[in-house]
Amino acid sequence: MKLKHSEAFRIMPYKCPKCGFVEYIWNSRDGLTPFSIKCIKKGCDSLADHVFPHVMNKDEEFTRLAPRNIDRYFVTMSWRQARSIAKDRIQNAVEYGYLDPQIDYVETIEKLTESIYGEGHAPCIIPAEQYKSTVH
Ligand SMILES: [Zn+2]
Repeated sequence: MKLKHSEAFRIMPYKCPKCGFVEYIWNSRDGLTPFSIKCIKKGCDSLADHVFPHVMNKDEEFTRLAPRNIDRYFVTMSWRQARSIAKDRIQNAVEYGYLDPQIDYVETIEKLTESIYGEGHAPCIIPAEQYKSTVH
C-alpha cells in the first residue's frame, strides 16, 4: 500500500521550547499531523513543536517502531469531536468578549465545526487507553 503522507504510521516527536519536555505521539493513520500541539507538562502553557528524529538523537527507523510506551495517539477526528471543540471555542470566545453573545449559536457552531472537521482528515489526539479500547 502506497502511503500519501510521510508521517503516516510513525512516532511523531514534539518538543516544548519553553520547558524542554518531549512527547512522542503515534500517528495511527495516513494523515497529516499538526506542526505544534499544546505542551502537556504540568504548569507549562506553551506549544510544543514537531521536531525531526535526529534532533532527539534518534534515527529515522525509530519513528517506524510499533508504538510502545506511547501515551497518546493521533486519530482522525470525528464530526462529534469537531463539534465539541467548536462549542468550547465559541463558549470561550463569548465568555472572553471576542464574540457577541447575540450571535446565532446554531449557525456559528455549524460553520466552525465544518472548518475544524475539514475534509474529514483533521487529526485529534486521544489517550492510549481510549485508542486501545476502540477499533481504528
Ligand atoms: Zn512545556
